[in-house]
Amino acid sequence: MMRFGQAKHDERIVQQAFLDAFPNPERIGCPGDDLIRAIARKKIDSDKSVRRHIRRCSPCSQDLLTFRHQWRTVKITRFAVLAAAATVLIVFGIYWRQTISHSPSPHSNLIAGNQQPLNLETGTLDFYDSGVRRGTGNVAPGPVQTVRSSARILVVILPMASLPGEYEVQIRNGSDDGKTIKVVRAIASNKANGRTALQFDLGAPLLPGSYGAAFRPQGSNLWSYGTFTVQ
Ligand SMILES: [Zn+2]
Repeated sequence: MMRFGQAKHDERIVQQAFLDAFPNPERIGCPGDDLIRAIARKKIDSDKSVRRHIRRCSPCSQDLLTFRHQWRTVKITRFAVLAAAATVLIVFGIYWRQTISHSPSPHSNLIAGNQQPLNLETGTLDFYDSGVRRGTGNVAPGPVQTVRSSARILVVILPMASLPGEYEVQIRNGSDDGKTIKVVRAIASNKANGRTALQFDLGAPLLPGSYGAAFRPQGSNLWSYGTFTVQ
């Protein structure tokens, strides 16, 4: 059985013999590089006389083969570049879609399907220094605390020396002695810097305005108070 390499070798010998068969060193009657290149790229149909010339002119045959080979290389390179670009686009597209689907926009509270609240906006009320303990006579209004009206989760940093555990929180209209509009039970836990904080879901964001917060450990009558603004 003839090996492929041998067949290729034989083919080359035949081809070379053909290419040497019609020497035309003066290039008499040759159609020129541009035309042969155009034929090699199949840009034009060569007419009969040109085809006949190329068949009987070894240099033109050689040129045609060379240009065909060059053109094939150009096409393969172009295809490889396009394929690489397409691959990059596809990979980027997949990455982008995954990124989008895993990062809900800041304003979307619900994700379709499981209806679980995700990525709810959090507002923080820092009453660490400003919590007023009635009955102690130690009334110290601290800096005004503000949360955005889009916040649904509230983090309340409890006044200094507050203990962790279950708390009752009342949100009051206007001020800390206003009408109670919301009652929440939440567990306070120790945070960094010796702070104790409550975190709870308001259920729905508060409308812009002034509010008061009153909170006490569950089962205790030791209320603490704070005021805040929703903007
Ligand atoms: Zn020629």
